[in-house]
Amino acid sequence: MRRKLAAGNWKMNGLGADLAELERLAAAPAPSQTGRLICPPATLISRATLVAGDIAIGGQDCHAAQSGAHTGDISAEMLADCGASAVILGHSERREDHGETDATVAAKVAAAWSEGLLAVVCIGESLAQRDAGETLALIGSQLAGSLPDTATGANTVIAYEPIWAIGTGRIPTLEQINEVHEFIRTTLTDRFGGEGHAFRILYGGSVKPENASEIFSVANVDGALVGGASLKADDFQAIIDALDAA
Ligand code: PEP
Repeated sequence: MRRKLAAGNWKMNGLGADLAELERLAAAPAPSQTGRLICPPATLISRATLVAGDIAIGGQDCHAAQSGAHTGDISAEMLADCGASAVILGHSERREDHGETDATVAAKVAAAWSEGLLAVVCIGESLAQRDAGETLALIGSQLAGSLPDTATGANTVIAYEPIWAIGTGRIPTLEQINEVHEFIRTTLTDRFGGEGHAFRILYGGSVKPENASEIFSVANVDGALVGGASLKADDFQAIIDALDAA
């Protein structure tokens, strides 16, 4: 049985005062079937761990190197040192804004594992790629290139995030989500054998309280990576509840 996961990505949002939202989430009863993860900006990780209760705290990126001359970057060891237990890697905003390739992502994933961090690896197509019928080929090559051979369901979570659904309020049809998640599952079992069934596959892109239940009804959707709706405790709690009930 895969334990479901509700993961929040605060992106470049959040000041100290916003930790009150996390505190409110932590005060709610823990869901029975669902793990919870919040990835605030790096500046808040240490303070977030103090109020998060049993909600895991993660980073939004790490460098592949352990230390060195990389101004502005943060290593996996630094994330672990300040209390993070997970890190989002290969988010489309990092791939676009920072030119991250699948090889970059794979190196970061290995760095995350070496510090005991759960890697949440993001993949997903642009609208142009979807319209050109390239979605599954792209997803296959992103999975092949971004996951080192020693990936397991315990050290890695996959987040399928169609770029055109992120922050747009537009989501794929349930059939489109089903097609891609099923393809990801098959790709994982082809490569990793039975272990391929152990990976959680999250959907991400405009998940809201209003659409969460229908998204979570799709096979092989083991949870969500949530941006905007993770910033407010009430919205994220509604998504957690929908996932736990699915
Ligand atoms: C994201 O950035 O990972 C994301 C899914 O954002 P949103 O939920 O705001 O679309």
